[in-house]
Order: sequence, then structure tokens, then C-alpha cells
Amino acid sequence: MFVLFCGVGEAFDENLTNTSILVFNKQQESLLLDCGFTAATNYWKYAPHPLDLDGLYISHLHGDHFLGTSLLLLRFYEEQRTKELHIFGPAGIKEKTLQALELAYPKIKDKLPFSIVFTETCSEQEINFKNFTLLPLTSIHAIPSLGVKISSQGKTLYYSGDGQPDSNLLNHLKEVDLLILETYKATQEVPGHSSITSALHLAKTCQAKELALVHLNRDTRKDSQTLFQILQNNQGIKVLLPAPGTICWL
Ligand SMILES: [Zn+2]
Repeated sequence: MFVLFCGVGEAFDENLTNTSILVFNKQQESLLLDCGFTAATNYWKYAPHPLDLDGLYISHLHGDHFLGTSLLLLRFYEEQRTKELHIFGPAGIKEKTLQALELAYPKIKDKLPFSIVFTETCSEQEINFKNFTLLPLTSIHAIPSLGVKISSQGKTLYYSGDGQPDSNLLNHLKEVDLLILETYKATQEVPGHSSITSALHLAKTCQAKELALVHLNRDTRKDSQTLFQILQNNQGIKVLLPAPGTICWL
């Protein structure tokens, strides 16, 4: 598998688009993880073959993780995509996606030249999708949020979406190849969010091979001295602070 970070920003970041991550397996099947307000343009900027996207996984229905879907679908319409698209997301994903599209671009949904297959996700209920296995896992956030463990051909990654890891998480993440964690502040725990300190702790506890930090608070990201100090004390964990366009091979 390999992972292409299209966006790595939090909701308000004026310099970085919303966190949105493209995952490919050996068969070149692709899955986009989250698509917030500002994510769709960077998807087009970095995806090698944007019209070929197989699936979209939405962790939760906050705008910075979900409300770029309308623009994504509109551009698929504009470029006359015909391939079926699968959308995975929490309860209500079909209704919310179609409502948002109707609000943003009225009457487009009946003209889409491709079909959309919606699947509602439930915590710890595995989904087989092409040559991927998806395992949605609860993150503790202001609204229901399901991160996802993705496995394909013996490699595994976990993407948290927004939120603090649920206590059950560790059982599923032993020796995961790549942890992609939402981290908001450096050391401070903000309710419903993780921090760099707790991300490092989780990575060490589950013996992750690599940790990628995304969704950093805009001001935390600018404080390079603090970031450097924390990441210097990384307890031997390989830590990546990806930028848009960064590729990570598993
Ligand atoms: Zn959120």
C-alpha cells in the first residue's frame, strides 16, 4: 500500500487544506479518507488519476471532513465520470451527502453519469471492499466519529479521523505499519481531540512502525520550536509531519 497526503490541515488553517488522504493498494485500487470544505481541489492536484477513485470513506459529518464531497461529485459530473463510486460513512451518510449536494448544486444529483453505492459504517464491523479490508473504530469526538483500520496484502494503517482514541483501540492496532493521527495541540488535551503527546504514547504502546501527525492546530504548527522539542523526544518512534503531496510507502 501507499498513502498520499492530499491535505493535512485542520478546519481553520489559512495555509493548508483540510486533512484528506488517498490510499492505494497493490492493485492500484484507491480510497480517499475524508473530504472537507477545502479538500477537493488538492485531491485533484495530487491524485494521479482522479477520475479513477474507487471509494470515499467519511469518518464523521463535521464540515471539515465531509462538506467537500459536493465539489468532488460536481467535478466528477463535469468531467463525465462513469465509474461507480462507493461512499462509506456513519449513520445518515446517504441522506446527508445528497442533501449537501442538492443545497450546493441543485438538480445535479439526478444528472450524475455514475452511480453511488452508500454503506453505513458501524464500529468494529468489518467491510471488505475490493482488495481492502476496512475496520471502522470509534474515536471520542463531539459527534459520532469512526476512524478506520485499513488492511491490504499484509500491510495495515489506521486513520483516526477526529478524536481521542477509544480504549478498545489498542486491541486492534498492535504493530500497525502506519498510524495517521489527528493531533490538535502539542501537549494540551482539548476535549474531543488528541495531542502530539498522546499520539506518541499510543504509537509507542501499540508498537506502530511509523506515526504521521495530521490536523495540527494552525498555531501549534507555526510554533516550530515547541514542535521540535516534542518531536526530538519521540522515544524512538519514526514520526512524520506530512505536507500536501507527501507519499508514504508501507
Ligand atoms: Zn470533527
